[in-house]
Amino acid sequence: MIGFIVLAYRLSLVPEEHEFEPRLPDKGIINVHERIQKFSDSAKWLEAMEECGISATCMLGSPKQTFLLSSPPGFSNYSVNNDMTIYLEEKYDSKILAFPTIDPRDQEKLKIIKDQLARGAIGFNSFSGHTAELFPEPKKTIYDYLGPLNRSDMEEVYEYFEREQIPFNWHVKLKNDTLYSQVRDVMKKYPDMIVDFPHFGVLGTDLYRLEELMDNYSGVYTDISFGGFAKWGMPRVSNNIELYREFVNKYHDRVMFGTDIVITNNVRKTVPWLVDHIMAYRNMLEKDEYYVNIQNITGEGFDLNETLNGLGLGQEILDEIYYETPMRFLKGEPAELKNSSSRALEISFENKDVKEHDGFEMNNDLMSDEQVIDIVHKRKKRTMKI
Ligand SMILES: [Zn+2]
Repeated sequence: MIGFIVLAYRLSLVPEEHEFEPRLPDKGIINVHERIQKFSDSAKWLEAMEECGISATCMLGSPKQTFLLSSPPGFSNYSVNNDMTIYLEEKYDSKILAFPTIDPRDQEKLKIIKDQLARGAIGFNSFSGHTAELFPEPKKTIYDYLGPLNRSDMEEVYEYFEREQIPFNWHVKLKNDTLYSQVRDVMKKYPDMIVDFPHFGVLGTDLYRLEELMDNYSGVYTDISFGGFAKWGMPRVSNNIELYREFVNKYHDRVMFGTDIVITNNVRKTVPWLVDHIMAYRNMLEKDEYYVNIQNITGEGFDLNETLNGLGLGQEILDEIYYETPMRFLKGEPAELKNSSSRALEISFENKDVKEHDGFEMNNDLMSDEQVIDIVHKRKKRTMKI
């Protein structure tokens, strides 16, 4: 009950017409993919956003292991980060949008998701298909902790996301045969889910699996961020420019702007460094050729210091990638089906502790399902006014 009163008070403070109107270029940029380690790093990100014409950033709640590679193996300490994203959304008047992360192992996950929605979350993310080897010994990945993707105890979540049209950012390495068959299993059961398979489906140049999902499911999106792998991702696009240009032009209403730079208190991640990084992504989309210069955060040399081929996209498609498509994703709407006579998919194929951090405290009262849905719908109407 207390939680509801607090929330009602908070909502009364939000202006009727939400500041979701874009700035630059023409309509401004919605960044659908970023992560932040500490609250104290947020001011510099806001400054960099402003400088680069980004009007809103979806902040993906994340575990400790994705910030500090020296962390003990596993998937932990994400609750505080989740709560911080919600706090940032409130503090920065929805210039930051909260996308808490899900722990599939958590028995209470759906209850937690509903609580986070009530407190301000716009969408959710999952790292369950993340197969980068973050942990040295034994060589384990996040997938080893959170998978499989089609585990039965996640069904209530997928079902809920599909029914309530909740945007879902899902890291899945589609190139991996096992993961791909699992994800197809899930999509077959929940074909109307609104999903961003980020980083071009965490693929190399094998875009056909992402294309297949897009051809079959109108709620499938992707984003152009590469995360810490930008030093390989941008040259890969450059070396296969025709392939990527063709893909983006064909699926222009499915591709969204994202950065995933990972904002931390590393001394070299200054505002100019963040700006260089964001602008490299913009240049990759906007220019035929661009010079990119990003210093390595270890202070030794450069991650990127070269001239690369860009996609040189027209303004109309840029407007879609920067604003219109992210907006549709955030509202939980599908894109048009590209291929209505789509190929049939013939292959079938596991607690939350609210803690105090950085000087603020989160409210932990849970609401009823009806209250949550009511609030979510009201918020969607208000915050997503174009
Ligand atoms: Zn990512």
